[in-house]
Amino acid sequence: MLAYIGLGSNLNNPKEQIKNALIALNEVEDVTVTSLSSLYQSKPIDHSNQPDYLNAVCQVNTHLTALELLRVCQLIEINQHRVREKKWGARTIDLDIILYGKQVVASKELVIPHPEMMNRAFVLIPLKEIEPDLNVPILGPIDKLIERIQDQELIKL
Ligand code: ADP
Ligand code: MG
Repeated sequence: MLAYIGLGSNLNNPKEQIKNALIALNEVEDVTVTSLSSLYQSKPIDHSNQPDYLNAVCQVNTHLTALELLRVCQLIEINQHRVREKKWGARTIDLDIILYGKQVVASKELVIPHPEMMNRAFVLIPLKEIEPDLNVPILGPIDKLIERIQDQELIKL
């Protein structure tokens, strides 16, 4: 199964945080990181006074279920000392499952496609970079989604 994971960080050397999370992901048995976008910099989504974010999207090849993959992501977050603060608060690392093949998931714990992906340039632009012709389940062609978020500022590093 090919899945796409969004990585984000705005604390404690974000570049290093994202790099370490990618290494940790790839070290998991039966998870191989097969593609990686550039790094992108953006302002906090709530315009609050916290540091800029760095984001990237990677593709992984895995036989894990979507829920198992979520557990892996959560473990990596814990290992990198993410403290759970308020929603949209500053964080050392955030790993979100953006897509899991063509599968649609809507459980209490896991929603795929990621419920905010269509609103976030820092997910859509890096995703298009590694998957230019993607057709997102439910949401449609990636190009159409990107048309809707043109106003969001995003700096490619
Ligand atoms: P956010 O990513 O929105 O800033 P968190 O990382 O704290 O917030 O995630 C909150 C919850 O979102 C998690 O406990 C997880 O169960 C849930 N969740 C739902 N869908 C997904 C998904 N596709 N990827 C990651 N987490 C998800
Ligand atoms: Mg998250």
